[in-house]
Formats: sequence, structure tokens, C-alpha cells
Amino acid sequence: MAIAADKNSDLFIDGKLVPGGNGRYPTINPATEEVLGTAADGDAEDMSRAIDAARRAFDTTDWSTNTELRVRGIRQLRDAMKEHVEELREMTMAEVGAPRMLTSAAQLEGPVEDLSFCADTAENYSWRQDLGVAAPMGIKTQRTIAREAVGVVGAITPWNFPHQINLAKLGPALAAGNTIVLKPAPDTPWCAAVLGELIAEHTDIPPGVVNIVTSNDHAVGALLSSDPRVDMVSFTGSTNTGRAVMAAGAATIKKVFLELGGKSAFLVLDDADLAGACSMAAFTASMHAGQGCAITTRLVVPRARYDEAVEAAAATMGGIKPGDPTNPGTICGPVISERQRDRVQSYLDLAITEGGRFACGGGRPADRDTGFFIEPTVIAGLDNSARVAREEIFGPVLTVIAHDGDEDAIRIANDSPYGLSGTVFGADPDRAQSVADRLRVGTVNVNGGVWYSADAPFGGYKQSGVGREMGLAGFEEYLELKVIATAV
Ligand code: NAD
Repeated sequence: MAIAADKNSDLFIDGKLVPGGNGRYPTINPATEEVLGTAADGDAEDMSRAIDAARRAFDTTDWSTNTELRVRGIRQLRDAMKEHVEELREMTMAEVGAPRMLTSAAQLEGPVEDLSFCADTAENYSWRQDLGVAAPMGIKTQRTIAREAVGVVGAITPWNFPHQINLAKLGPALAAGNTIVLKPAPDTPWCAAVLGELIAEHTDIPPGVVNIVTSNDHAVGALLSSDPRVDMVSFTGSTNTGRAVMAAGAATIKKVFLELGGKSAFLVLDDADLAGACSMAAFTASMHAGQGCAITTRLVVPRARYDEAVEAAAATMGGIKPGDPTNPGTICGPVISERQRDRVQSYLDLAITEGGRFACGGGRPADRDTGFFIEPTVIAGLDNSARVAREEIFGPVLTVIAHDGDEDAIRIANDSPYGLSGTVFGADPDRAQSVADRLRVGTVNVNGGVWYSADAPFGGYKQSGVGREMGLAGFEEYLELKVIATAV
């Protein structure tokens, strides 16, 4: 079978590919601004049918208790994605503007492989735990802890790493025994819709277990956070939207799992290789045009070497030209949309208004009049109180901030409403480690270590989220816990 979703994708409801109640809407290639094709535009009734199907599959089939079926289904989906990986790669580059080199990692092949972790975890998990016999209140009792699926999961995802985020919800939610309604971002419908095609064609996953509703209307996704038939919402996106999801979920006391924004710091200690560290920070901030929630976008450097640090960062970032994502050498492609490009540009304008200056970049590249490109930009001359140092920009933008020693660097890193990730570079590993220990964030890279992997939980402190995705912790987010006490 060839993938059809990369022309005109459908909704996937109760095991069937179906049209959307609102017709179709165009999908745009962010690198060329060309219309690639269309996606089904689901409406409120489609969403209601999808929730109904997921509810029925959970309540009336053995999906939640048939671990063998679930493990098989997840592995079949993984294998089908691998079989179609080249088509998926083309689709991902076209729809997301994702650079080719990232599709062999977190943009595609990484998360597909991570489905193995989900299947293996379900296969080997201790679903019941014997607490032994005790006599609370004098009554001899055998106690057991049972872990079971939460129920119907509504998954709402953004556009920046669609496969990674869709699969990091779908994989563990299914492995744990839930059924799911996935509502992807309006800008990246195909990366989600294709899962419906592959599930229908290549897996034993029963109808209703997975439902996918693409829509151009954010309000259709919002229904998942208020509908009483949904037990849990698993959301990744901006902190503002996360707040709305949490508030809407309160009415039915939904379990709410949130992966939100970030403004992570890259700390360079005064014993570090300054040029190497700043160059690494600049490269990271340019990847996928800075559209990564955990990218370190504040470069915090020793005050005495501030100018040198700015120069090193600008030398790397100024040399990275935004380009065609299909080119194997491209690291910085376009941002997702015209709206997003305008938003990034407005932050660049704000940096100047706030008294900053550009050490490189600062706007649209002169040689690209089509495509939603922004030059990798280094902002200098501001401290951590500037809005460009506090708010998430989600573009290839790095703000360089001076620190006065380790204590001050830690203070600056933690002086943020967010707490998603961080990096520490220093020659003395013990000192770098002790700085890392004091960061109020969910993941830290010390001297280039990589925290991203299937078995490592990912998520944020403070306004970066609630809960963890991936790893055993990410699997257990999708479980309830029941104590069974039997008098003996
Ligand atoms: P967004 O918040 O605008 O949209 C995310 C999703 O929410 C989309 O599917 C959208 O249709 C839906 N949505 C919008 N309004 C809604 C509402 N009221 N109720 C329910 N759903 C609604 O985010 P975005 O612009 O698509 O993505 C970028 C953001 O995502 C950034 O802030 C980034 O940091 C964040 N992000 C976080 C992580 C993480 O793991 N922490 C990962 C990737 C992206």
C-alpha cells in the first residue's frame, strides 16, 4: 500500500477512514508556501463520534486487559511505519518543514523505534502487586495493588515534532490499555492521519481503539478537555493553551497531563571551553528553526567574557543559513507558518525596543522571498528581565545573558516561569554536576550529554507542565491504581 494521506487525508473514526463534517482544508509546505494537498476538516459531530467510538471500545471490548493483543498491535504499527519510512520522511519534510537530517532522529525514526519500548514495557509490566496479608483494624486482609488503564484518552498535539509527540502519547496510552482520540495541530494533519491508514491496513488494533480527528478549528480539540466521556487529556503545546485545557478539564475532574513551553538556559561556567560551548548553544538554537520546546534559548555566560561569548555564538549562528529542509546539509528549515514567522519577527523587533542588539541575523533572509524563513539570530545587550529572555519565541533566536559566577548563573537559570530543560558546560565535572543538581527543570544536559531516549522521562517543572512523557513514568501516567483488600 502507498500512503494516501500525503495528498488528501481523512479522519479515522471507529476503524474507518471518513470525510470531515467541515469538508477539507489545504496543507501548506512551509518551505515553499505551496499547497501540498488537503486534510479532512473535522467538526464537533465528528469529534463526538470519535469519543463515542473510543468509549465503546474501552467499555465493551477486552482491549484494556488483553495485553498480548496490545503488544502485537503496537509492534505492527511500528513495523508498518518502518516499512513506509521513506514516504513518511518525504511527508514530514514537506508538511512540517523538518530538516532531512532530523528525520533520522526525533522527527521520525527515533519515535517509531520508541514504540518498541512501549510494547516491551506492557509485556513485562507487573500489573498486580501483592502487598501481603496484614490485619488493619484487627481484620486479617490480603491486599493487592492492581494497575489498570485510565479509560478514554484525548490527545492534543502541536506541530513542531508531530511524530514524536503523537507517538509518545499513542504508544504508552495504548500499551497501558487505554483507547484514544488524537487531535493533531491544524498545521500538521497528515503526520497524524497516516497513523489511521497504517493502523487500519497493517494492524490488529480493533475499531474504536484509535481515532484521529484532524481539524482546522482549535475549538474541536477543546471538546476533548470538556467532554465527560473522556477520562484523561494528554496535551502538548503552549502554556497558555495548557492553562485552558486544565481549566476546562476541571469541570469533570479529568486527569490532565501537560507538556508545555520552555525558556531553557545554557550555562557556561568560567572554567568551560567558552568558544566550544557557545558554538554548541548556537547550533542547538538553530535546529529546526528553534521550534523545540526544550531548546536552550538563553545562553548564560561569564560577564568578564561576555563579548567573546557573543562573538563565538554569532560566528556559528551567522554561518547557519536557513534552507531547503530536503537538503541533507540543512539544519535550520522554515518555521511552520506565516503567522509563526510574524510572531518571531515581532519578538526580534521587541529585542531592539528593549535595548538589545543583533550580533547576527534579525529578520528574514535576503535570499529567500518565499517560505517562512527566519535568520538564526543572536540577541546581545539584555539581561534576564527582558521579555525576549522570559517569553518563549519558538524561532532560531538565542539571547546571551551575563552571569557573575555559579550562584548567579543558577539564579538566572531558575528565574523563569518555565522549568523544562537546561544545559551546563564546565571543565570540572563535579562542579558542573552540582550546578545541574540545582536547576529546577525536568532534564539537564551536562557537557553535551543526551537526555532524550525512550526510557528517559521527559517533562517540566513549574509552568512547563504536569507529569512526564516517555520512560516508565510516561507509561504509568496512563494508569490508574486500585487496591483490592480481601478478608482472609
Ligand atoms: P498550541 O498550544 O497553539 O496548540 C497545541 C494544540 O492545542 C493544537 O493541536 C491546537 O489545535 C490545540 N488547541 C488550541 N486551543 C485549544 C484549546 N482551547 N483547547 C484544546 N486544544 C486547543 O501550540 P503550538 O503552537 O501548536 O505548539 C507550540 C507550543 O508547543 C510551544 O509552546 C512549545 O513549547 C510547546 N511544545 C511543548 C512540548 C513539551 O513537551 N513540553 C513539546 C513540543 C511543543
